[in-house]
Amino acid sequence: MPITGIYGPEDFDSRPQGQTTSPRVPPRTAAPLPMPSLQWTADVERATAPLYERVKHVIPPIEWPLMAPTIKAINELKRARGAVILAHNYQAPEIFHCVADIGGDSLQLAVEATKVKADVIVQCGVHFMAETSKLLNPDKTVLIPDSRAGCSLAASITGADVRLLREKFPGVPVVAYVNTSAEVKAEVDICCTSSNAVQVVESLNAPSVIFLPDRYLATYVASKTDVKIIAWKGACEVHERFTGEELRSLRDGDPSVQIIAHPECPPDVLAEADFTGSTAHMINWVRERRPRRLVMITECSMADNVRAELPDVEMLRPCNLCPHMKRITLANILDSLLTLGEEVTIDPALAVRARRSVERMINLKN
Ligand code: SF4
Repeated sequence: MPITGIYGPEDFDSRPQGQTTSPRVPPRTAAPLPMPSLQWTADVERATAPLYERVKHVIPPIEWPLMAPTIKAINELKRARGAVILAHNYQAPEIFHCVADIGGDSLQLAVEATKVKADVIVQCGVHFMAETSKLLNPDKTVLIPDSRAGCSLAASITGADVRLLREKFPGVPVVAYVNTSAEVKAEVDICCTSSNAVQVVESLNAPSVIFLPDRYLATYVASKTDVKIIAWKGACEVHERFTGEELRSLRDGDPSVQIIAHPECPPDVLAEADFTGSTAHMINWVRERRPRRLVMITECSMADNVRAELPDVEMLRPCNLCPHMKRITLANILDSLLTLGEEVTIDPALAVRARRSVERMINLKN
């Protein structure tokens, strides 16, 4: 059914000018390690050859000597620091395939973060992902190579907005997409990802649910359940740019092409897709179906990462880059390991409440 209402900041006159990132406590400081050599040598070429095999279909040979010394240095520093690197599917192939220990979507990273034995976690993704890792690993040092890596969804709503929604709809449970700050997670009943959003909504056994902050994911969920969905006006700036018209013209050009799309896209885009699913579901769909020609309606690096693994699948564009994800680079991952910065910190009292919302989701899955 259609969503039953959609709200945004302009609907609340008393809305305070709140922050959209969580309160932080001062990070610890650590002695930086010396910068390693970043020369392209025969030793570097030999040591990184197995890694180049993984990405040779998406990184031209001429670019490898520029990346390989930093990749080798990061992998050595990881061991020296007792660190593990988590990377989202939207990270560039040289990060996702060559330095990450664990890769996946938000849910996979959140779950894997709870099993990590290392003392230090380097989160290659955006800030809310690093916060989620910190929530689940409060005693570990969680680093993000560039804390400016934000997200248009997380920035669209504050904890104060959630409290205003609760006042307007007393007794209605609130589900927050994980693409929210810890401050927002602390105000909601449970989190969800695009993989489990429908399951989470239905688990509440309520006739109506407030679902925030992505209006398009809310619309998709509403189409899959009888629960009445009250939405927020947030959107992903990457996925909302796709249009049904560009997909129709691609299909007109080649009727055999397969199109798969992320549920953060607008409804006219999803109407043209052969399959709609989270990043993890999209990857599994490609692994199982092995289409000859494919359009992945999501962030560009995910298509590169899938193509590195499945070179027989020809990827057609369009795709859109996420400027926030692209703030994470080999250079700032190296810097992060050298200096143990930038450390992600969350006010402990707020973290207790935010962690409960994430753990409710994880326990539901298990
Ligand atoms: S792709 Fe969209 S949802 Fe993901 S981090 Fe970028 S802006 Fe946020």
